[in-house]
Amino acid sequence: MTTKNVLIALIMLAVFIWIDKLLSKHHYDVMCLFDPRTYNGERISIDERNLSKNETVYISGLGDFNQSDLETASKEITEVFGFKCEIIDPIKTTLELYSDNTRKLDMEKCESVLRPSNKTIYITNEYFADENVSGISMKNGKLVLASNTCNHLKKTIFHELGHTLGMDHCDNNKCIMGTRNIMTCNDEFCNNCKTKLKLK
Ligand SMILES: [Zn+2]
Ligand SMILES: [Zn+2]
Repeated sequence: MTTKNVLIALIMLAVFIWIDKLLSKHHYDVMCLFDPRTYNGERISIDERNLSKNETVYISGLGDFNQSDLETASKEITEVFGFKCEIIDPIKTTLELYSDNTRKLDMEKCESVLRPSNKTIYITNEYFADENVSGISMKNGKLVLASNTCNHLKKTIFHELGHTLGMDHCDNNKCIMGTRNIMTCNDEFCNNCKTKLKLK
């Protein structure tokens, strides 16, 4: 009887651990497709980077978007990073931007079609084909895609902008550069990351 109970307890424990593992893998990086281990694009290194207030970040809508999101993003980026922001003409989506047979944006296709001349953040209300991803910073370090489908647009933009400014993921999962669930992190950089970014 006791052996049977122990066995049942062990099986339950194994199932619990398996489910937990499955869930944590699922939520590894809810917000972002950026992976420093596989990233082979050019990135501005933190040291070389010029956090000049004169630098302009361009903001554009992509497909379905809210104009108010562009305006809010513009204000917050200027406030936090000191960059000037300029809202430019939105991009209408065409079939070639979507994953085959779906109404979800294919990020690789977006990357090849959207060719910004400078740092551009595209904001959209549309879903990406990879359902766990709400944002991506592109390989050339000049383009950020941010989706408001998770209702955490500011976190997504700041996280991805952090990558384009040379930041890797942060071990502090309360930090906006953390790799855990976007819902549970704070909506600002931890002190460590603030120092690296030379933010106050
Ligand atoms: Zn990331
Ligand atoms: Zn951090």
